[in-house]
Amino acid sequence: MTPESPAAPQMPCPRCEGVAMPTTVRTAIWRSDDSLVIVEDIPARVCNLCMEQYYDEDVSDALRLLMERGFPAGEAKKVITVPVFSLEGRMRTRVELPEDTYLD
Ligand SMILES: [Zn+2]
Repeated sequence: MTPESPAAPQMPCPRCEGVAMPTTVRTAIWRSDDSLVIVEDIPARVCNLCMEQYYDEDVSDALRLLMERGFPAGEAKKVITVPVFSLEGRMRTRVELPEDTYLD
């Protein structure tokens, strides 16, 4: 399948001085039941500076429709297994210092 985004030229980023370039992205969506789905092949424009992603209206509509239909498992392109890590116990305990303590 050729990713031929229909008329998606670059545009000035509304949030910064960057330029949002047409590309294809994927996104991970946490659902209310704590399950995770990934949507790929999303036509978007991504800012070259702030990395903000912008979707055209038909793209947002397609995403919303998929969401409203509850991401039917039978329509998934594939299923992957994802390793999950925790930061619990990986951080040094933060020592509370008096407010007038300065570290140089
Ligand atoms: Zn930007």
